Amino acid sequence: MKRKVRIGGLEIGGGAPIRVESMLKVGLAEKEKCLAQCERLLSEGCDLARAALPSSELAGALAWLAKRTTLPLMADVHFDPAIAVAAIRAGCPSVRLNPGNMPLNRLSEVVRMAKDLSVVIRVGANGGSLSPRHLSAAGGDAGTALFLAVKEQVDLLLEQGFENVILSAKSSSVGNTLRANAFIARAYPDLPLHVGVTEAGPGDGSVVKSAVGIGSLLAQGIGDTLRVSLTDEPEREVRVGYEILRALGLRRRGAELVSCPTCGRRRVDVMKLVKLVEPLLSGLPDGVTVAVMGCEVNGPKEAKNADLGLAGTPMGAVLFKKGVPAGEYPFEKLPDVLPAFFSANPE
Ligand code: SF4
Repeated sequence: MKRKVRIGGLEIGGGAPIRVESMLKVGLAEKEKCLAQCERLLSEGCDLARAALPSSELAGALAWLAKRTTLPLMADVHFDPAIAVAAIRAGCPSVRLNPGNMPLNRLSEVVRMAKDLSVVIRVGANGGSLSPRHLSAAGGDAGTALFLAVKEQVDLLLEQGFENVILSAKSSSVGNTLRANAFIARAYPDLPLHVGVTEAGPGDGSVVKSAVGIGSLLAQGIGDTLRVSLTDEPEREVRVGYEILRALGLRRRGAELVSCPTCGRRRVDVMKLVKLVEPLLSGLPDGVTVAVMGCEVNGPKEAKNADLGLAGTPMGAVLFKKGVPAGEYPFEKLPDVLPAFFSANPE
């Protein structure tokens, strides 16, 4: 069993659910905007948000935010350990230190304060800020260099008796991310691991890249917490994170929609039917499955297996609740029938 760490009231590793994280996309100087973003992230089910702390002068804004939001925060610190000290003094329950740019010989004050105040340190390497030293030691292989960067810093923390750590190594290359994390999981099997593909970009490609990278690791049992890094609103990062977990059966938030891709056999316009159903999903409990199927080939079986199902028929669609038929209706009647059908608790 992995070691469990606690960031405020949030448990990570050690059998806790896999956590979904994001990062604030406005600077701490815009305090109200940061707070609003935290509240939106909370409503999407975000477990933890990182906040960039580029200088100690912003530690006051971090303290202001930490006092007002219930979302656990992690200060994201580069270059200067004194900034991490300022974050801890500001009451931040966790800090991320980048081993690619953080001087190892100046970490003792951070470690001492983190120990005293039970602050978690994430040792988080990133492909874009690897030091030439680590790259050279790895013979130019960025995946290995990410591992070496993490190893060097975490070994130093462990030597100082500091074990309240989370490890992470991210690259915009899926291959390098997978390799680095496999090395880390092998070398530190008992330490919690944060996984993600960094700088995944915008659009469909970013979601696929994140799902392939993060999903491959989670499918091997590697990863206790994740972040999907999109050039998009942070709320979308959280939604995609949950979709990855749902696809792997690791954690469910909201209802799951199973719908057929539709084909020439369809008895009903599945795309139109899905558009009718989608707005009704938000009122359903976590983990409920809803099937929308186009015809009698796979339709009735899928629809019966789901908590709520709709399958196309020559007349329109037959509805199922927990596998029991609940009426057959022409398509035109469905907009009137479906709200009541979905509002009755399917559990
Ligand atoms: S359920 Fe029917 S309509 Fe949908 S893809 Fe399968 S065969 Fe085609």
